[in-house]
Amino acid sequence: MEAIAKPLPRVTPELAPFFEAAKARKLVVQRCASCGRLRFPPRELCSHCWSRDAEWVPVSGRGEVFSFYWMHQIYHPGFAAEVPYPVVIVALEEGPHVLSNIVGCAREQLRIGLPVEVTFEDASDEVTLPKFRPRG
Ligand SMILES: [Zn+2]
Repeated sequence: MEAIAKPLPRVTPELAPFFEAAKARKLVVQRCASCGRLRFPPRELCSHCWSRDAEWVPVSGRGEVFSFYWMHQIYHPGFAAEVPYPVVIVALEEGPHVLSNIVGCAREQLRIGLPVEVTFEDASDEVTLPKFRPRG
């Protein structure tokens, strides 16, 4: 039986810099060009100073698991073979939180506060997905 492809994020003009960086194995977040605060996911307005000016800046890719859950629901047949799989919210060292998956992590190893680092998975020619793995 042929595997059903997973749906991939759409590379919109707003997200293009993020996916270009991921392809080059770099994790980037937005920085407000006015007050300097970092944010992710990207937004049109800074929630602190309301500036519309922002730039993309690289971050370390290191952080810790802020929260996680095990996905048991099959929302798309492309994920059927993998349930239950872990979904994590990673608090980056620089502050922003990133929703992603963790790889190379045993079920009993996954916990809040687990140190992690980014890793990259080429999902298609266009889309590389930042994921996280245990660090150290
Ligand atoms: Zn700002």
